[in-house]
Amino acid sequence: MPELPEVEITRRGLLPLLNQTVKKVVIRNASMRWPIPAHLPKTLENQKLIGLTRRAKYILAEFQNDKSENGILLLHLGMSGRISLLDRNYPPEKHDHFDIEFNDKQVLRLRDPRRFGAVLWAGLEPNNHALLSALGPEPLDDAFNGKYLHQNIRTRTAAIKTTIMDSHLVVGVGNIYASESLFRARINPQTPANQVSLAKCEKLVKEIKATLNDALNAGGSSLRDFFGTDGNPGYFQQEYFVYGRTGQPCKVCGRPIKMVRLGQRSTFYCANCQR
Ligand SMILES: [Zn+2]
Repeated sequence: MPELPEVEITRRGLLPLLNQTVKKVVIRNASMRWPIPAHLPKTLENQKLIGLTRRAKYILAEFQNDKSENGILLLHLGMSGRISLLDRNYPPEKHDHFDIEFNDKQVLRLRDPRRFGAVLWAGLEPNNHALLSALGPEPLDDAFNGKYLHQNIRTRTAAIKTTIMDSHLVVGVGNIYASESLFRARINPQTPANQVSLAKCEKLVKEIKATLNDALNAGGSSLRDFFGTDGNPGYFQQEYFVYGRTGQPCKVCGRPIKMVRLGQRSTFYCANCQR
């Protein structure tokens, strides 16, 4: 599943489209997680792309028409989505459901075999959109800090791992990054959230940011591959301490990495290093 770093790298890869004008929009298959609005080809034609931002795992593409009216298109990659920037002569393939073709001959193409992704029109006030309005802070923003985390988990008894993956608390801490940052902060993922001290919260926040930044840096260096027409839309090549390493020796103490299910998600940890 594309996580926050992959979405952010996708956004950066689309920046060459800024200030380009839409020639046409093609919907080949509208049945995504929600139907792609049928009005989009008409709405977006001749509009200029004036902004590309990200909120959680949504890419917000802001368009402006010739009356200087703006609107925002939300793009989400779901479980298996991938957005490519291609020459418009590049033929669409089986799972290429949505295109925005620009006047400079480039096309933004969404491929999504499992169709859990989304293309939605959010109008002028995207932050009021039902999908965005209840989201917690961005993990890399200063608003997400040790004090904030400690304050907001004081009454939560669920495992800290499950808690930090709750997008109402903080967005973008996916399964890999939760396991890895808890290892780096030396916190057992099964610890009830309300038992994590302020000092440990400070450390955990620092490691969440560091883990995400490592992934962004790895992604930045492979941007060309990520945007190619072939290749794999999987995770950026990274070295993990615990994720997916059940039974292998801990890179710090040498004892075998354990796996446990928490909130239906595989969770990897070292019982010796993480207490
Ligand atoms: Zn260890």
